[in-house]
Amino acid sequence: MDHKQRMKELVELLNRYNYEYYVLDSPSVSDFEYDMLLRELEELERLYPEDILPDSPTQRVGGAAQTEFKKVQHKEPMLSLTNAFSYQEVLDFHNRIIKTGITPTYVCELKIDGIASTAHYENGEFVLGATRGDGVVGENITLNMKTIKTLPLKLKEKYNLEVRGEVYMRKDVFNRLNEERKASGEELFKNPRNAAGGSLRQLDPSITKSRNLDIFNYILVNAEQYNISTQYEALKFLEKLGFNVCPTYRHCKTIQEVFDYIEYWHDNRHNLDFETDGIVIKVNEFEYQKKLGFTAKTPRWAIAYKFPPEEVVTKLLEIQFNTGRTGKVNPLAILEPVLIDGSVVQKATLNNEDFIKERDIRVGDYVVVRKAGEIIPEVVRVDFTKRDSKLKPFEMIKNCPSCGQPLVRKEDEAAYYCLNEQCEGRILASIIYFASRPAMDIDGLGEKLLTLLYEKGYVRKITDIYRLKNYREELIQIDRLGEKSVDSILDAIEVSKNNPLDRLITGLGIKLVGSKVSKILANKFKSLENLRTKKFEDFIQIDEIGPQIAQSIEDFLSKNQDLIDELISLGINPVVESAEEFKQIFAGQTIVVTGKLVHYTRDEINDIIEKYGGKAAGSVSKKTSFVVAGEDAGSKLIKAQELGIKIINEEEFRQLISGE
Ligand code: NAD
Repeated sequence: MDHKQRMKELVELLNRYNYEYYVLDSPSVSDFEYDMLLRELEELERLYPEDILPDSPTQRVGGAAQTEFKKVQHKEPMLSLTNAFSYQEVLDFHNRIIKTGITPTYVCELKIDGIASTAHYENGEFVLGATRGDGVVGENITLNMKTIKTLPLKLKEKYNLEVRGEVYMRKDVFNRLNEERKASGEELFKNPRNAAGGSLRQLDPSITKSRNLDIFNYILVNAEQYNISTQYEALKFLEKLGFNVCPTYRHCKTIQEVFDYIEYWHDNRHNLDFETDGIVIKVNEFEYQKKLGFTAKTPRWAIAYKFPPEEVVTKLLEIQFNTGRTGKVNPLAILEPVLIDGSVVQKATLNNEDFIKERDIRVGDYVVVRKAGEIIPEVVRVDFTKRDSKLKPFEMIKNCPSCGQPLVRKEDEAAYYCLNEQCEGRILASIIYFASRPAMDIDGLGEKLLTLLYEKGYVRKITDIYRLKNYREELIQIDRLGEKSVDSILDAIEVSKNNPLDRLITGLGIKLVGSKVSKILANKFKSLENLRTKKFEDFIQIDEIGPQIAQSIEDFLSKNQDLIDELISLGINPVVESAEEFKQIFAGQTIVVTGKLVHYTRDEINDIIEKYGGKAAGSVSKKTSFVVAGEDAGSKLIKAQELGIKIINEEEFRQLISGE
C-alpha cells in the first residue's frame, strides 16, 4: 500500500473512532490502539507534509459541538495535550524547553479521565458551563453542570472568572450505574469516562443529576489578572475560592522529581476512587508558558504522560453463550487464567456478534485482554502473530443455548434475544438476580448454588427460595455444603424477608426498573399490596417515570399477581417506614465517605447518612465534619489528614448508627 492510501485509510478510521468516542460515548477500540494509529498517521504526515489531508484528526482538537445544545464560542481556545508514552519522551519534552534557554520548574497533576469543561462566573456566581467541543466552539451545558455537587455555584469572593476542569464519574458511581443498567436491560457503559460523557450531554438535566457526576478543576483562565504567576499558585487560589482541586498535585523542581511522581502514581493509581489515565506535566511559571506558546492543537509548555495499558495476552479456550434475565444472549470468552491488575481473570466479555466478527476473533486464538476502565475484563483483539491457520471463523449461534428457540436480533441493536418467557435460562437468571447484591442480597445464595438448586428442582421460581427451609436435610447432603453453611444460608433467606421494599421491587426484575426507580416506587406506594393495584396513569404522574417504564410496570403487575400473592403469603411484605423513626444523630453534619466498604454501597451509606439527618458530600473541605474511610481510601483521606479532619472506619460508623 502506498503512503497516500494508508494516510487516507488512517484518517477515515480515526475520524470514525473520534465520532464513536466523542459523540456516541461508545468507543470500539482502546485508547492505546487509537493513540498508536494516530502516531502512525503523525509520522506519515511528518514525512509527507504535502499530502496531509484537510480532514485529518491531527489538524484539530477532537470532538464536535452536537447540534441539540446551544453553541458557545470559547474566548480562549480549549486545547488538547501532546502525549508522551515513555520517560524518554518526557525527557525530550524537558530538553526541548531547556534548549530555548528557560529553566522551568513543573507542576505535576493527575490526568483525570473525564470530559473537559469550562465554567464562567460573574460576581462570584456560576453563569455558564460548556464542553470543549472542537476547542473553538463547545456546547452550552450550564443546566447539566449545575447538577454537579462538587462544582461551586457561588464562590467565596465575587470574582468574574473562567475556570476549566474535568467532569468525571467516580468508580463506585460507575459500578452502581452499570449494575442498574444491567438490571434494567440497558446497554452498559464501557468505562467511567464514557459514562461521564453520556451523562453530561443529556438534554434532560434531571438525568445528569441522577448520575452523580463530580468535577476537578485545574485551569484558571487568565490567572495573571489576579496577580498569580504560577500554576501552583493558581491551584491554591482555586482551592481557596471553593473549587474542587484534585489534592494530589505537586510542585516538582527537577525532572527527576517529575519521574518520581509518575512512578508513585503508576503504582498507586488503583487506590484512587476515580480513574486517571496519566500524568499532566505543566511548566509552572506563566512567564515561561507564554514564551513557549502553543501549536494549533496543544500548548508547548505541557505534556501528558499516558500510563501504559494493562493488557495481557492469553488463550481463548471457548466462547460460551448465556441467556440473561431479559432474554439477551451474551457471548462470553473463557480464557486461560491470567493475572491483570492483581486479580486472576478467566472470563471476559466479547460484547456481541459484530464485535467478534470485526476483529476476527476465533476459539483457540491468543487474544489481548484488558480491564476496560479497570473494571470489566474485555477481549480487545487477536494476536495474529500467533494465529493457527486451522482455526475456524466465528459463527453466531442461531438458537437459545437454554431452550433452543430461534434467537432474534433486534433492529438497531447488535444483541440477540430469546423471546421465550418460559425459557429456563431466563427463569434461572431471574432467580439469581432476585438473590443478588443489587436486589435481595442474600448471603451465600449465589449463581453457582442457585444453578445447582434449580437443576435439582428445589428452586424453580423466585418464591421457592423461601421454601428451601423445608429441604434442610437434603441441602446438607449436597456436596461441600454441610450443616453450618446450610443453616447460615437459610438464616440469610429469613433475614431477607425484612429487606426494604425497594430491594424487593428491584428483585422482581421488572424491565427498565433498576434500583433507582424501585426506590421511587417504594417511597411513593409504601407496600406491595398498594403497588399491585396501580396502573399506567399512576406511574406516569411520577416525575422520573416516562411512558415506557410506566407501561413496563403495568405489564409486569398484570402478569404477576400470583407471584405477589405468594410473596405476601410467605411473609415477604415490607412496608416503607416514615423518616421520623430515625434519630437525627448527624443533624447539621457534613460527612464524606471514601474507599471500599464491606457492608454498604456508596449510595446506601449516603442514604443512611441522610436518613439520620446528615449531609453526604463528595469531597473533603474544611466544612467536613468527619470522614468515613474504607479500604484503599485515596486522595480524600490524604486531604482529610492534611486538614486535620476526624476520620472513622466503617465499623465505628456502624456503631454510631446502632447507638452503641
Ligand atoms: P487527552 O485526553 O489525551 O488529553 C487532553 C485532555 O486532558 C484535556 O483536554 C483535559 O480535558 C484533560 N485533562 C485531564 N486532567 C487534566 C489536568 N490535570 N490538566 C490538564 N488537562 C487535563 O486529549 P483529548 O484530545 O481529550 O483526547 C484524545 C485522547 O482520547 C486520545 O489520545 C485517546 O487516548 C482518546 N481517544 C480515544 C478514542 C477511542 O476510540 N478509543 C477516540 C478518540 C480519542
